[in-house]
Formats: sequence, C-alpha cells, structure tokens
Amino acid sequence: MYLPECIGINSQGRLTIGGVDTVKIAGQYGTPLYVMSEQQLRENCREFTGAIREGLDGHGLALYSCKALCCKYICNICDEEGLGLNVTSGCELYTALKAGFPAEKISFHGNNKSKAELSLAVDSSVGRINIDNLPELESLTKIAAEKGKTVSVMLRLKPSVAVHTFEAAQTGQIDSKFGFALETGEAMDAVKRVLSSGCLNLTGIHCHIGSQIFDSDSFVLAVRILMEFMAKIKEETGAELSELDIGGGFGIKYTDSGNPPKIPEYVSSISAAVRECATLYGLKMPFVLFEPGRSIVGSAGVTLYTVGFVKEIPGVRTYVGTDGGMFESPRYALYKAKFEAVCANRANEPWDQTVTLAGKCCESGDLIQEHTRLQKVEPGDIVAVLSTGAYNYSMASNYNRNPRPAIVMVKEGETKVVVRGESYDDLIKNDL
Ligand SMILES: *Cc1c(COP(=O)(O)O)cnc(C)c1O
Repeated sequence: MYLPECIGINSQGRLTIGGVDTVKIAGQYGTPLYVMSEQQLRENCREFTGAIREGLDGHGLALYSCKALCCKYICNICDEEGLGLNVTSGCELYTALKAGFPAEKISFHGNNKSKAELSLAVDSSVGRINIDNLPELESLTKIAAEKGKTVSVMLRLKPSVAVHTFEAAQTGQIDSKFGFALETGEAMDAVKRVLSSGCLNLTGIHCHIGSQIFDSDSFVLAVRILMEFMAKIKEETGAELSELDIGGGFGIKYTDSGNPPKIPEYVSSISAAVRECATLYGLKMPFVLFEPGRSIVGSAGVTLYTVGFVKEIPGVRTYVGTDGGMFESPRYALYKAKFEAVCANRANEPWDQTVTLAGKCCESGDLIQEHTRLQKVEPGDIVAVLSTGAYNYSMASNYNRNPRPAIVMVKEGETKVVVRGESYDDLIKNDL
C-alpha cells in the first residue's frame, strides 16, 4: 500500500491526512468529499522553488498549472509560496485575478482562445500570453494594436519528443492539436511574424510534451530541441530570446508500482541541459519556466466516500458501491487512471480484498477503480481514494445532477471548507 507523505494511520487504525482523522472529517462534512493537506501543497511548491534556487541560481520560475485544480485558495497558496500561475481559460484567469494573484506572474495558455479571453488577458496585463496558432497570433496582434498595448508573448512549439506515458497525455509530437511545428517551418514563420508585429514582445518559446512523465530524459531532449531552435532564431533574425518554458508533466507516484524522479532531479537535469546548450550555442542563459500542475496538488488530496453496498458476484467480481463516481472522479472512466484505495476506518486491517469501486451514476463505466486492493468493507464504511488532488475536482461534472462535493483543507490539525459543495439550488439556478 502506497501512502503519500501527508497520509498516515493513527493509533485507532484510522486513516489520517495532515494528522487529522479522515473518518471524523467525513462525519463532520459528509461524503463524497475532497480533502487536502495544506502542508503537503506548500511542500510541493517548495520542492520547485528550492530546486530552482539551487539549479538555476533562482533564474527561473515555477508556474502552477491551475487547470489541475483551480480555486482562489490554491491560487493564494501558490502566490504566498512564490510561484507564478499558468491559466488556460477566461475563468481560470478570472479566478486568479479575483484571488488577487499578481497579473505579471500569470501566463495565459490554451489552443483556441476566444477574442474575449485574449482581450481579458491583455486588459489585465498578464505577464505572458502563449500563442498556439497563426489565427490566434493575428487576432492578438489586432487586439494589442487596438488597445495600444505591447503584449509579452511566447510561442508554443511541438518539439517532436515522444514521451512514455498514456496516449491521451502525449502532446509534443507533430500529430497534436497544440502548437507550431518545427519541421514544417511553421514555427519560424510565427517567430518572424511576432517580431515584425510592432506590438508583441517575444520573450521566448514554450513546449509541453505531455503529462505524468516518468523520466527526465524526455525533458532534456525537449530542452535541446528548443535551445537549438533559439540559436536558429538568433542566426536568422538576430533576436535573442530571454525565456524558455519547458512546460509541466512531472510524474507523481499513485501506487506501489513505478517510481518517478523527485522534483529536484527533474529540475536539476533540465537546468544542466539548458546551461550546456547555452554554452554550446553561445546564447545567454535563459530564464527557465516550469509549469507543474499535478505535482503541486496531486499528492495533497484524498477523496472520501461512504460505502452503500457490497455486491459479491461469485466468480466474477465484487462491487463496492460508493456515493461518488464519474461526476466527481472522472479520471478512471476517462483513461483508466490508477489510484490506491483504503478503508479509512479499517486502515490497519488486512488489505487483501480485490474489489471494483463503483460510482452512483447511471453508466456501467462509472467506476472509480477496478480490481483494486481494499480491506473487507461493509455498508457505512468510509473509503479513501488517495492522491486525488489533481484533475478530479477540476474535471468534475454534474452528471445525473449530482452536486460537486466541497473541498476541505487541513491545516495545522484544523479543517475548513475552501470550496463549498454545491446545493440542489446551485444546480438549477440557471434553468429558465
Ligand atoms: C496541463 C499542462 C501543464 C501541467 O501538466 P501536469 O501534468 O499537471 O504537470 C503544464 N503546461 C501546459 C501547457 C499544460 O497544458
């Protein structure tokens, strides 16, 4: 059984997060429920800031990719910890601004930003807008010119690095909807257009090669390809770009199998590669941006459920019915994401049953985990699914008109709601 750092088992055999009994939390706030450890979140942020200080003498910045989990409270934690923010939609940007996040530390991403989104980003003077394609470049040039503003931009490139992760999480290859291709000349064309735009300031280039990547080599390869391209830009246009954004995708541990590198290892390999290439190509050492999403919030969260039934189908499988499902935890239904599950009130009992954790939605595919280990459970027990801080709340829906659960934060032995759970009235409020 793999327990993330913030998870423990107390003397009563109950699962704890940040030292607080999860069974008590479930009793106080109800289930399903997202619970997070603030200390773990902050430690995850500090892994990046510490490693950037160490590997790059502070000449870099981690931008939390808030699509992994976006709410005002998390934005504030990232700000306090000295991170920037990477937003991918108008409302992620709006959330960050409402949280008082400094606009100059926000990067705006996305592969089909609307004019309204681009205008909001320009009006709020975000630090960088990451351009994905030519129509967007044209649209942004027009908006900036109309507003009489100079906008700092980066270009998203496809470095053609094939990473070892699941297919849906690969984004850096030529057959991808994201970014400009290097091979076709499209990227260089975009660079020249930005340089001659008159109102866009090209700070650097960016790539994001995928998610849940378990080796530093893929990042090192991406660095080499991008830095080679920076050298080519300098050669062809005379422009020396000051920033390199290597994206996110740093893998985290979900189960016993597989050991991703630690954050300092990723950062130091990347930093070394950037330095080596800067020397090789005679370029100034660029300011290096990292965009961790999952690795900031993933390990800090658990989801709690109450068991409603146990259906043993002899010779087939045992279904454990929970009060959650694909509406609040869509990642298994989407791409069979693996998680560890523990019975919170029997955490010390043998973890020797093989069960399928089912949700309450009207879909056979509404499963939270299949053929997973669990203690022997009965109705009324609390089941905790671990490392669910990333891409659960943010991908949740209201399928079957299930309200999204609250997010409870654990801090120094205390708990508080940082995102309210939805009520039935919240769900019908837009019905006319
Ligand atoms: C999703 C995404 C990230 C974060 O990915 P993680 O796997 O959560 O670290 C970073 N940058 C971009 C552009 C992304 O789309």
